[in-house]
Amino acid sequence: MIRVLSVASECAPLVKTGGLADVVGALPAAIAANGVEMRTLLPGYPAVLEALGKAETIAEYDDLFGGSATVLAAKAGGLDLLVIKAAHLYERPGSIYLGPDGKDWPDNPERFAALSKVASDIGTAGADGWVPDVLHGHDWQAGLMMEYLPDDGRPATVLTIHNIAFHGLAGAEKIADLGLDPLRFTPDGYEYWGKVSALKAGLMRADRLTTVSKTYAAELMRPEFGMGLDGVMRARRDVLRGILNGIDDTIWNPEADPLITPYKTLKGKPANTAALRAELGLPAAEGPLCVVVSRLTEQKGLDLLLQALPTLLERGGQLALLGSGEPSLEAAFRAATRDPNVAVHIGYDEALSHRMMAGGDAILVPSRFEPCGLTQLYGLRYGTVPLVALTGGLADTVINASPAALARGVATGVQFAPVTADALRVALDDLCDLHADPARWRQLQKNGMKHPVGWDQSASAYAALYSEVLGR
Ligand code: ADP
Repeated sequence: MIRVLSVASECAPLVKTGGLADVVGALPAAIAANGVEMRTLLPGYPAVLEALGKAETIAEYDDLFGGSATVLAAKAGGLDLLVIKAAHLYERPGSIYLGPDGKDWPDNPERFAALSKVASDIGTAGADGWVPDVLHGHDWQAGLMMEYLPDDGRPATVLTIHNIAFHGLAGAEKIADLGLDPLRFTPDGYEYWGKVSALKAGLMRADRLTTVSKTYAAELMRPEFGMGLDGVMRARRDVLRGILNGIDDTIWNPEADPLITPYKTLKGKPANTAALRAELGLPAAEGPLCVVVSRLTEQKGLDLLLQALPTLLERGGQLALLGSGEPSLEAAFRAATRDPNVAVHIGYDEALSHRMMAGGDAILVPSRFEPCGLTQLYGLRYGTVPLVALTGGLADTVINASPAALARGVATGVQFAPVTADALRVALDDLCDLHADPARWRQLQKNGMKHPVGWDQSASAYAALYSEVLGR
């Protein structure tokens, strides 16, 4: 039995802003069969505290970055949780990362330093007699854990990069407040261009690094994708692994999804498509109903989709988008609904995302970079053909409908490169050609539905990594 403490800033179903939460929420159950006992350490945001049933206080802090705090042990959402209850850090309304002005909470460095500090304390002293063998942190919010751990008697450490774009920077004037060793404020330590980088702290010192696809692991070592940390990634390439995310198929399973009209075979899909069109006010159409479920940010390449959209509409296709994010993209997509074949829902809506996945013919993911990506995996599972950029996890999970792949009957979707509006136009055209050939289209859908997108392989890979880092 290997004991692992997973340390993260979000965790589905309790609190989620993106794919990180899905992974953190699904991994403990997925990996239990591999002889790994995983507990999850989370900040006590209001949504987390409300979900806790009976909780037991297992540790107390008089002063955790500016106020008193306790650590609670509880079960919720099928997870074995340790939760940091610290009103001054986490009990505030709104987004877990952003204040009402849409900017990072000014005390984010302290908020997630606290998460890292408590993780390091549990890693050394245990939690009520439970001592983890491995501390597994996720993204920059867990990075400083590697600095807080003592040099001697450290547990083994793993850091997973879900997105290297977020560095967790803080001004150098915070070094003392954050309880960091000033002697390690160097290029070999946690210093990054004169600032404290929580992510770099983790990248430099974790025993093993992982990211969420093999292609993204390779991309991270290149300047175009490394976001200024490609040199660090090259220096640590020996400990870097790519392990693909899976999807939680207790939540994403078209055969038993309570949020849709469930279907075992493709025969059941048209009813969902008709219902989605009716819900969104879209007319019947000859071409494919393409869906997007996404944060609206530069990363996701949806500005390219706006440019290429006329190609889809000219071919009789339709677009249904669910997302929120940058105001300029929200406004541009709202404006695109001038065309009756475009429907846009600005906001975050878990239930609608299921109905879109079940009702769509195709799912579009034109990301400029994508560490793994989950929505193309949902698409595969639901017979909703993915059209994706050839990058990161999108490259690793979709088999492009090239003439060779079509001839061999293995294609699952359409990929395009380079990630430009022109290449996307060509790909949308190809998608419409494929859709117009019902036998081919059905083959793509069926291949996708058979493609393994669950956790089995990846859970084994994480378990093997823990054994390796423990020298077992
Ligand atoms: P990222 O983590 O970069 O946002 P992923 O594809 O890895 O991208 O994960 C995004 C997750 O968030 C998916 O589970 C997706 O369904 C969900 N999601 C994104 N935007 C929305 C939205 N507006 N409404 C509902 N779910 C959303």
